[in-house]
Amino acid sequence: MPSVFIKTYGCQMNERDSEAVAAQLVAKGYTLAPTEAVADVVLLNTCSVRDFAEKKAIGKMQNLAADVRKNRPNVVLGFMGCMAQSRGQELIDKLPDVDLVLGTQKFHHAADYLDEILAGRRDKIVDVAEERGSEATIREHLLYGNADRNGDGHRPPLQVTAYVSIMQGCNQRCTFCIVPDTRGEERSRGIADIVAECRQLVAQGVKEITLLGQIVTSYGKRGFGRAELPLGQDAQQRVPTKEKSPFVQLLDAVHEIEGLERIRFTSPHPKGYGDDLIEAYARLPKLVESAHLPVQSGSDRVLKLMHRGYTRERFLGLVKKLRRVRPDIGITTDIIVGFPGETEDDFEQTLSLAREVEFDNAYLFKYSPRRDTPAAEMPDQVPLKIREERNHRLLDTINEIGRRKYDAFVGRRTQILVEGPSRKNPARMTGRTRCNKIVVFEGSERHRGQLLDVKITRAGSFTLYGDPAILGED
Ligand code: SF4
Repeated sequence: MPSVFIKTYGCQMNERDSEAVAAQLVAKGYTLAPTEAVADVVLLNTCSVRDFAEKKAIGKMQNLAADVRKNRPNVVLGFMGCMAQSRGQELIDKLPDVDLVLGTQKFHHAADYLDEILAGRRDKIVDVAEERGSEATIREHLLYGNADRNGDGHRPPLQVTAYVSIMQGCNQRCTFCIVPDTRGEERSRGIADIVAECRQLVAQGVKEITLLGQIVTSYGKRGFGRAELPLGQDAQQRVPTKEKSPFVQLLDAVHEIEGLERIRFTSPHPKGYGDDLIEAYARLPKLVESAHLPVQSGSDRVLKLMHRGYTRERFLGLVKKLRRVRPDIGITTDIIVGFPGETEDDFEQTLSLAREVEFDNAYLFKYSPRRDTPAAEMPDQVPLKIREERNHRLLDTINEIGRRKYDAFVGRRTQILVEGPSRKNPARMTGRTRCNKIVVFEGSERHRGQLLDVKITRAGSFTLYGDPAILGED
């Protein structure tokens, strides 16, 4: 059977889509190639969030066409994901070596299309149409890597954490973001369907599940797409009660799964944090003390230009409420620096918000105009030099706060879920605290999947180092 290599660009959603496509192909008998150099099929799962990400994927495909194709003319080359969706046929027109272009609602057709191309029945395939129900097709996992197709479910999986896609698309239309165009309108899977997938993962040894979507706090707000769900259940789910949003109902249902230890979710939208979700943090012990709250700016004027739908005050109020119910909560964020029209005063407000919240970490993005977004056409684009300088200042602030927060862990005991060997030093093991901090420690494979108490001995740059704590020792 042919072998496949998938290279993924961009966000966690893309990682998850690639995993599902790889698992679907493995189930059909494909093997996973260790490198593109030996694969029969090379797929690039692309990102469109920045022009740079698109250029990188196109450059990569040009190299593949020049190198891999030259030596092995039968290799199949394909684009999938966000750039495939937004550019479609144009990609084959520009790069005639490309055989397959697969949009964001079409991942589950990868195996059939590849079969057709490999068998010579079709030459080129472009499929970027909308497809009803596609939100429920990202469900396969590769817990055992390449050996998954022989999996009997009893061996310890390579992954003790798993991502579960709960919805696709976004209707928010932030003015800098291309995602609503590449991923389409919000479409949510039914609760029963998601719970069934989570249960199966837990039965296979998964201990922590991250519920995944472009805007998970909007989960189910526009109904559910899966008509084939058991009628009674589905009808019940379709009625968001006043007290509980569909997302909190989903959290409740996943929380009931026996054997599941931890629940996370990403990405939420700050405006989607209603009191029911805050209350869920107080009520559901498996929901860990961690929140990724993308604030984007500390200035109300800029937030309005971005079409974010909340104010600085509301964001700060939300942080306060979360800390009231979970004082140890780890809060991370995304911030865009140098959005069109951002003045020095606006930027100072972002700096002051970062200091006030004391984020555990922040992902900073220097604004870059994205074609087909309203922000790209806005007046007062901020010169690159100023964007760089502000990015630098904010980064210093974030690093300084982060250092302080990480240092505060030294000497403390904390629970981690052991995920596997450290990527940087495979002789050591790594785990994650409930508040989402990575801890590296001297351990062994037998620790994988365990909830372990560790004593933190040292803090590095956004990493903690620890020793497994011995009971009774202080
Ligand atoms: S909430 Fe805004 S930034 Fe997030 S995916 Fe939707 S449009 Fe993009």
